[in-house]
Amino acid sequence: MAMSVQMKKIHKIAKKIDDNLRADDLRLSHVVHLVHEDGSIFHWDNAFLIEYYDKDHPYWGGTKYPGQWVFVFSEHHGFHVFARNEVENFRQFKRVSVEKHPDFPEDQWICDSCHSTFIEPSSAWLADSKIIWVENPENLDALSLCQINLCPWCESDTVRVRKIVKKSLSTN
Ligand SMILES: [Zn+2]
Repeated sequence: MAMSVQMKKIHKIAKKIDDNLRADDLRLSHVVHLVHEDGSIFHWDNAFLIEYYDKDHPYWGGTKYPGQWVFVFSEHHGFHVFARNEVENFRQFKRVSVEKHPDFPEDQWICDSCHSTFIEPSSAWLADSKIIWVENPENLDALSLCQINLCPWCESDTVRVRKIVKKSLSTN
């Protein structure tokens, strides 16, 4: 589909903003959620929105929001241009960490390969220096098996228990 002259102009404006973005721009720490009028739902991590008004073409882009545009800039998935009229709704969130109930266990383990932390490692069995995944190890020859801990993310066996410094309210 060929772009109209107006569309090209709007695209150029958005591209200029995108070209001048730095990866460490704090606006890129947002989460953007956009619902298109056709029902498509878009979600971008590390992104932000800019609303644009085209004063040279105030009646272009639809009857509901004439002259209005929505730009999405993302760190990893380029930039996107929508006529405001085509967008059902759009939101921008600041990422905040979710509170955990006090009963929620802390990540006890850390992987030295990928540096992820996790509550519990996956466990697998080592037989003749080969890692095997078995449902019922007791059914196998127990002498040749030894249980090992693996990282649930990268499956490396370089996992260890972290030292967790518990925050305490006492002042002693
Ligand atoms: Zn890992």
